[in-house]
Amino acid sequence: MHKGSLFIISGPSGAGKGTIYNRVIAATDMKKSISVTTRKPRPGEVEGVHYYFRTEEQYQQMIAAGEFLETAEVHQNYYGTPKAPVFEYLENGHDVLFDIDVNGAKSIKKKYPDAVGIFLMTPTWEILEQRLRDRNTETESSLKIRLSAARRELSQYPLFDYIVFNDVLDVAVHEVLSIIAAEKRKIKNNISAIKKLLEEN
Ligand code: 5GP
Repeated sequence: MHKGSLFIISGPSGAGKGTIYNRVIAATDMKKSISVTTRKPRPGEVEGVHYYFRTEEQYQQMIAAGEFLETAEVHQNYYGTPKAPVFEYLENGHDVLFDIDVNGAKSIKKKYPDAVGIFLMTPTWEILEQRLRDRNTETESSLKIRLSAARRELSQYPLFDYIVFNDVLDVAVHEVLSIIAAEKRKIKNNISAIKKLLEEN
């Protein structure tokens, strides 16, 4: 039985996942899961901070060595969650937050049904497209790939426990933090604390 809990933020790129993820990490003592990817670093991305950047060959070796908790192909690159740090965090009672795609969320949910899945979306498709364009990181063809992937991702909504519509960023961050706080206070997540209090009196 692990001591910490798992929380997943998923949803299409452009929905504001990265920003919200970082705001939640900064506002809590949750641990970041830093993924491994075969995608090339974007300007400003730092090895070991945003991702561990690996060649496809190195990535395949990590798969063969069983180093991933889950791995998925997203937008023609590989992304995976390294197992070891997650296990260590959980053992030490820390909660872990994942920013992973829908397939990754599915794998984690299969292994850990108690993991809490939060799907992040824009209120409209127009806003999603505009945010992707504003990022200036996509070519026209990768933009098309990401937009058509977004619909497929949203159609997997039954996998998730919550949906947050990121219209006003501060509101969305507040909602994600509220979801996490409420989950932490569920009776089933506090049995040992309750039993301890009962034993003391
Ligand atoms: P980006 O290339 O924009 O950083 O990320 C692309 C997509 O890959 C995002 O939806 C992000 O959530 C997802 N992603 C990042 N790391 C992982 C991971 O370790 N596993 C899975 N399954 N998806 C990931």
